[in-house]
Parts: sequence; C-alpha cells; structure tokens
Amino acid sequence: MIKTFKAETFIEKLFCDCCHHEMIATGKALISNPPQFPHECTGCGVVENITNFSFPNAIIREVEVHNKDFNKTKSHLDHSG
Ligand SMILES: [Zn+2]
Repeated sequence: MIKTFKAETFIEKLFCDCCHHEMIATGKALISNPPQFPHECTGCGVVENITNFSFPNAIIREVEVHNKDFNKTKSHLDHSG
C-alpha cells in the first residue's frame, strides 16, 4: 500500500565557528568509515572535515496535519518499545 503525505523541505547550512561565514563542501570525500567531507570556509578559508554529511544539506520533514498531538503519541510509543 502506498500513501502520500504532505512534507516540508528545509536546507541546512554549515557556518564557521571562527568567523561565522558559510562553509561549503569542497566536493572531495575522505576514504574512511564513516566517510568524511571537507568543508571550506568562504571567509577565513579554514577546512573542517564533517562526518557523514555535506552542506548545504536538503532535509524533508513530514507535516503533521491530522494529529497535532504527535509528540505525546510518540513518547507513548517509545514507552511501549
Ligand atoms: Zn571562517
């Protein structure tokens, strides 16, 4: 059975801890487990290796339309598991 749900799209961006400019993936990947992706700051040029993700990163979240009490339902389910 296939069902369709409403969703929202977000973009996560990475910012430099030093100068607060955006950090962009260099397009390279380091051979490691898990993989790491070098990101270069557009301000100061520092390079930081990020595990598993490259930024900007698109994320999709389901929109809860019918059940506004989703968090309470979820915690209940967590207890049962
Ligand atoms: Zn920087």
